[in-house]
Amino acid sequence: MARWLALLFVLCVFGPASDVHAVAPKARLTGVRFLSSVNYTRVILDLTGRVKFTIQPLAGSPRKRIPPRVYLDLSGTRLATPRPRVEVRDRMVQRVRMSQYKAGVVRVVLDLKQPGNHEAVLLANPHRIAVDVERKGGFPVRTEGAVRRSVRRIVLDPGHGGKDPGAVGVNGLREKNIALSIARMLARRLRREMGVDVVLTRDRDVFVSLKERTNIATREAADLFVSIHSNASTNRAAAGLETYYLDHRITDRAILKLAARENGTSLRNVTDRDYILSDMKLGRFACFTPLLAGNLQSSLVRKVRPRYSRVRDLGVKKGPFYVLTVGEMPAALVELFFVSNRREARALRRQAVRAAIVEGLFHGVKEYADGLRKTRCR
Ligand SMILES: [Zn+2]
Repeated sequence: MARWLALLFVLCVFGPASDVHAVAPKARLTGVRFLSSVNYTRVILDLTGRVKFTIQPLAGSPRKRIPPRVYLDLSGTRLATPRPRVEVRDRMVQRVRMSQYKAGVVRVVLDLKQPGNHEAVLLANPHRIAVDVERKGGFPVRTEGAVRRSVRRIVLDPGHGGKDPGAVGVNGLREKNIALSIARMLARRLRREMGVDVVLTRDRDVFVSLKERTNIATREAADLFVSIHSNASTNRAAAGLETYYLDHRITDRAILKLAARENGTSLRNVTDRDYILSDMKLGRFACFTPLLAGNLQSSLVRKVRPRYSRVRDLGVKKGPFYVLTVGEMPAALVELFFVSNRREARALRRQAVRAAIVEGLFHGVKEYADGLRKTRCR
């Protein structure tokens, strides 16, 4: 008996030092995917169930030719991927290696090209872990965008298009057409009066996926991104103008429904996809983004009111919109009236109202750009 107690004592005191214990595997690691962005790499570990994990950095040794690494230990997990080594070879990550470190613990090692900041988040439905790695201090493109105190390039994103009409309202009024007409007029105005580069994610009636839209924004390394939409509701009385910026921790059902429609996904999946951004990336523009949304919203209401006196100011809100995950720049999404509301649909058909909307968005961008120099962000 005393020997057993002694053994137990030894196990308790000198047992596994790591907080990840070997437990019977309940989940399998079935594969690895990665997304390479200009500024960071996201590695996605596909799992068959929930797991507990730890994540640690390891310094490299140039003398011994050992790269800096980040490793994760997944407890209660069995390695079930046919490819235990995946070459990434982007700016940040060289490769991902996986092994059954011990019974019930899978170790995943990211060999980095340079030391980086890392963050990992467990996601469900399907189960997976997203690991983000970015260079310490950021990449030059990002730094330039974040530090630059002027607006030189803007990406405008007219919602929907082609086979996707967006919301269809009173008398067949289509969201995709309103968005395109406003975006084109706004682009002309911005180029002419602010002298900025403007890139449209679509300049005609074609379908562009949300992923392509965010890719365009990332590729262009723009200073800001504005997505243009019109709302609709089964409640015919619903009316007004509103501006959104990204936040995935939203529980308001009406906002989730709108985001699900704009994202082309189900209500259940709207807050739980690979596009959920880590706080690391949301935090980067935590200061600029609400400023942009606030400028757009107040200027819109101010300029539209003389042309449409019944305008309702629904304010600035937050929501989980996929297209706002451009991540590298302040981004906002405007909902220009409700096409399902008879009065607002009629207003949207009037050229004077559209011109006032363009005027509002133009001054919103301009006020944001002018205010940038005075804004103090970390
Ligand atoms: Zn839309």
